[in-house]
Amino acid sequence: REKVEGSQAFCPLSYGQRALWFLHQLAPESWAYHTLFAARVCSEVDIPALQRTFQTLIDRQPALRTTYTLRNGEPVQQIHPHQDVDFEETSAAAWDEAELNDRLLEQIQQPFDLEHGPVVRVRLFSRAAKDHILLLVGHHIALDLLSYMVLLDELRVIYPTQQDRTSVALPPIQFQYRDFVRWQTQMLSSSKGQQLWAYWQEQLGTDLPLLNLPTDRPRPAVQTYRGATHVFSVNETLTQQLQLLAKTEKTTLYAVLLAAFQTLLYRYSAQPDILVGSPMLGRGRPEFERVVGYFVNMVVLRANCGGNPPFKAFLGQVSRALSGALDHQDYPFALLVERLRPQRDSSRSPFLDVMFDYETLQSGQQDITQFFLGEVGRPVDFGGLILEPFPLRQQEGQFDLALHALEAKGALQGALVYNTDLFDVTTMARMAQHFEVLLQGIVTNPETPLSRLPLLTTLEENQLLVVWNHTPAAYPATLCLHQLFETQVERTPNAIAIVFPADTTKATNRSEGQTLTYRELSEQANQLAHYLRGLGVGPGTLVGLYLERSLDMVVGLLGTLKAGAAYIPLDPTYPKERLALILEDAPLSVLLTQEQLLDGLPAHTLQVVCVQRDHEVLARQSKANLTNLTSGDNLAYILFTSGSTGRPKGVQIPHRAVVNFLSSMRRQPGLTERDTLFSVTTLSFDIAGLELFLPLIVGARVVLASREVVGDGRQLATQLADWGATVMQATPSTWQLLLEAGWSGEQRLKALCGGEACPRELANRLIATCASVWNMYGPTETTIWSAIYAMEAGEGTIPIGRPIANTQIYLLNSDWQPVPVGVPGVLYIGGAGLAWGYLDQPALTAEKFIPNPFSAQPGERLYNTGDLARYRPEGAIEFLGRSDQQVKIRGYRMELGEIEAALCRHPGVKEAVVVAREDSSSATSPSRQTEKRLVAYIISVREPAPP
Ligand code: AMP
Ligand code: MG
Repeated sequence: REKVEGSQAFCPLSYGQRALWFLHQLAPESWAYHTLFAARVCSEVDIPALQRTFQTLIDRQPALRTTYTLRNGEPVQQIHPHQDVDFEETSAAAWDEAELNDRLLEQIQQPFDLEHGPVVRVRLFSRAAKDHILLLVGHHIALDLLSYMVLLDELRVIYPTQQDRTSVALPPIQFQYRDFVRWQTQMLSSSKGQQLWAYWQEQLGTDLPLLNLPTDRPRPAVQTYRGATHVFSVNETLTQQLQLLAKTEKTTLYAVLLAAFQTLLYRYSAQPDILVGSPMLGRGRPEFERVVGYFVNMVVLRANCGGNPPFKAFLGQVSRALSGALDHQDYPFALLVERLRPQRDSSRSPFLDVMFDYETLQSGQQDITQFFLGEVGRPVDFGGLILEPFPLRQQEGQFDLALHALEAKGALQGALVYNTDLFDVTTMARMAQHFEVLLQGIVTNPETPLSRLPLLTTLEENQLLVVWNHTPAAYPATLCLHQLFETQVERTPNAIAIVFPADTTKATNRSEGQTLTYRELSEQANQLAHYLRGLGVGPGTLVGLYLERSLDMVVGLLGTLKAGAAYIPLDPTYPKERLALILEDAPLSVLLTQEQLLDGLPAHTLQVVCVQRDHEVLARQSKANLTNLTSGDNLAYILFTSGSTGRPKGVQIPHRAVVNFLSSMRRQPGLTERDTLFSVTTLSFDIAGLELFLPLIVGARVVLASREVVGDGRQLATQLADWGATVMQATPSTWQLLLEAGWSGEQRLKALCGGEACPRELANRLIATCASVWNMYGPTETTIWSAIYAMEAGEGTIPIGRPIANTQIYLLNSDWQPVPVGVPGVLYIGGAGLAWGYLDQPALTAEKFIPNPFSAQPGERLYNTGDLARYRPEGAIEFLGRSDQQVKIRGYRMELGEIEAALCRHPGVKEAVVVAREDSSSATSPSRQTEKRLVAYIISVREPAPP
């Protein structure tokens, strides 16, 4: 019957081949499915004999003379009785390495014509008499890795016979690929096929996750295949220990390595549900073992790292999944994809982003296998041809990442094949090291829970925890803010300290305004402080500042501190209800305000001082400095910020934290007495502290913009120029507002941008027109800013930089373990900037301020910011978003939970969900790329009444 069907017969494709055939139709130019073998021949080559050798191989192996075509709408394969070998020999004597590499790539990438063949080509590049590069390239549809091994095994026998023209002593081919296709079809329609399908359906039938490994570059919208390989090895001792673990746990080294790799992926992604593909030989029956063709079949190995099990228990789970997969490996992956229909995503391959492959050398094939590892190895005699592995620098892969592990002669070899559009070689080198440290950690204590196993080398750990946190700098830790100011008053009593510009729309002279010299400002503040002391204000008491942006506000601020009290800013633009919540929580001794604001206050029983109204009493007070009653360890201010339970929480900041902060800012970004800082930020935002205190302790000038000006880009631009500002700090929204109003930048201006992530486009516009632009990062709880970064023009996210003086930053996983460079972790802050905690909320304070696990000093704490971040290789930190429900909108920090709680207090609302939506294209301001808004969804208590 075989004879009758003859060599011209058409045969259907296997499932794997069908998938490849369709992919080829979609992208005939793609070389993602080209397979290859490359070797250096370091002996003389009988070129005609070599060519005859490959012709003999093609004559023997039907798969090498098969073409693929459509027949009645179905792809079929056709085996031809003869196919001429595609063999070319080229002199490469004059080529340098780069040219050789280019020519090899050219040959690898050259598309195959599946319809007309040939599906394999042979190239020999001769460099010298005993130096040639032999390259075999074949389409995957015709042959897989094991097929190459079969071919090389036969080459070893055939080549000598072609040299002396004797006959080939190989047994005739008994089985061929069409036998496999027939077997596969029958098997799938049998009960075995149904049982395999049931198994995979159960494994993969539910919500398949996408693995989001942290990449060095954003994922291209359409999947690419550019790749490279990083090779590493695991020493013999560790390999033996791993083997021992496999033995005591009654499993295989394959399972141990797979479990370790899945742990690594879990640690890199923080995703508990990990899918990894693993290629199986796919040669369902022993008689297919020496057949050339496309057999290899992917199985999906799914592991659940949830609940953070000890490694040993996890290994048990993985090894059960692995033996299940091995038992059910004959189910074609292509068919699985077709039947389970995972959501199509053109940026990824279906189901799987990562592959794991484990090979042990079967005796007899050891010397051949080494050629496929991409590493320089030992020369091997192939019937007189001396071949040695020739690593090709570039490779293509279907996956984001693949780990090939090979156990040979007692040691483990690893190769990470990765997509170079996503990853850098340095990232892969680090990953390989982490894998080794992890393996070491596993054998040292296999009972360790997955998230606590070590990843970092000692060197890396030292770099992350110590070197990058080495920020000591002297600062006057015992002094208070107002003392630093008083020292400056003595230095420059007659210099102008502060300007409050006149209303530009009314003023005749544009640079007109109220001003105070250092001495005047200090004397007014002293008078207020003396008066406050008379009212019982002093250390340990609180003064509310409910003041419009004005000179009074600054006098009030300094007067409060001089009296020894801490201030609480109360924003006149806040709704009464919110102010009421703050007044309920904070026991104020005195409220400082202005007459015109009195109506905005909620009902209260407070002692009120109105700066204008009580002008005469104040004027009678002494102008002399007060005896200082406070030190660095007294409170400077309490700042209320949104609370997730529906109530704002008061962050308590001591003088020492602010003094350290200012000392650091004075050096970098830097401020001197020659500077004029244009202040725009409301006092209820802690960053106003930089704008008011920093100039006043260095002798610079503050220009205080009115609330009206701050909200109007055009006026802001005019005043910035009129007053010769050299520094301004603002949120990205305010910078955006300025640019939208037509402001064209300012060559002498140092621009500080912070409070939320600075969009790249905004940054580049500022960088192009300002003297310098800084990214400022920090939560209220660690005093204003904790990390800064001098921005540069470019692309991609802008880092938040490095910790400021006497500040430590740690990026940790859920188990407080430091995450490696490039891997996201939660950002924790330690050091001199830490708040005492939240006013009267010991439980919340204990939750957010944890004992510092990296400090030998008792009592040291870390603040959990809830921000997600990662290190760049050079140590700059990249902000990645939030791990919770806190959002920033136009610089305002909000807990969505606070708004939800407020909505639910309404009698008509049963349930509420609030989200911050980033809708592109906004009708109101078309030039803004995106505008974040709060959107609330509610379920009402009852149906709306009929009209
Ligand atoms: P706040 O307490 O109002 O200063 O808010 C602190 C939070 O604002 C941080 O935890 C971050 O989520 C965010 N934030 C502050 N500055 C930046 C920045 N430069 N880049 C990104 N996010 C920032
Ligand atoms: Mg902040």
